[in-house]
Amino acid sequence: MTGAPLLRVEALEARYGGAVRALSGVDLAVAAGEIVALVGSNGAGKTTVLKAVSNLLPAARGQVTAGRIVYDGRDVSRTPTDALVRAGLVGVLEGRHCFRGLSVEENLVTGGLGRGSNRAAIRDDLARIYAIFPRLVQKRRAPAGLISGGEQQMVAIGRALMGRPRLLVLDEPSMGLAPQVVAEIFRTLERLNRDEGLTILVAEQNVTVALRHADRAVVLENGRSVLTGTAAELRGRDDIRAFYLGLGTAPARVPA
Ligand code: ATP
Repeated sequence: MTGAPLLRVEALEARYGGAVRALSGVDLAVAAGEIVALVGSNGAGKTTVLKAVSNLLPAARGQVTAGRIVYDGRDVSRTPTDALVRAGLVGVLEGRHCFRGLSVEENLVTGGLGRGSNRAAIRDDLARIYAIFPRLVQKRRAPAGLISGGEQQMVAIGRALMGRPRLLVLDEPSMGLAPQVVAEIFRTLERLNRDEGLTILVAEQNVTVALRHADRAVVLENGRSVLTGTAAELRGRDDIRAFYLGLGTAPARVPA
């Protein structure tokens, strides 16, 4: 990695409700143009890191208690989420949040409003999202609550893309989806990264998928980043795969 990263997380610690310690030492960096995967088992702290990165922890009654997060020169903890969105840091939360009663298209439009887009810009952006996710064209009038889980994830990602992000932050996009749909979504993310230079930070429990599509990965364990490396390096480490696929042996550390 050369130059200042787009996102830098240093020695991050966080708690919920002043008592539950969720993070106790997370370091990671995302350079412009990279796809970085944040992997780790259930409860390792992935969602907490992503919420901290979008300054959404206070809304979950959590707080950053030490360390810092810098996005494109901004101190994230002092920057309101809507200002981060306008600066290009846009998140797709866990559980593919859609407004279930609104149509697919209305959901997408809400993603452009945060940026203060005008009608013409929204029309152009909608056309772009339908080109990225052609499946959504025929569902544009359907209530988001009635489409498939995969399509809901596409709506959630499409809505984020309407905000024209520079850094897209995704929480477990594979959750609850069929393998073919997961593959389709990750291929789309990889294409956006390659063709448009979209920088991506994605949390995943599905290590195999994450390492297949990411440039680098950071492994979280019990609220700490315990190792980091290129996806190719980590893919080649049987011990890591075994450990994080729940098969047993703990991995030795690889240098950061
Ligand atoms: P998952 O894949 O299950 O979402 P995760 O790696 O994203 O797991 P987090 O959700 O960040 O992990 O959770 C990290 C720790 O913080 C866990 O011990 C969890 O129980 C705790 N935690 C998460 N959210 C809250 C909350 N709102 N209040 C209290 N504790 C929380």
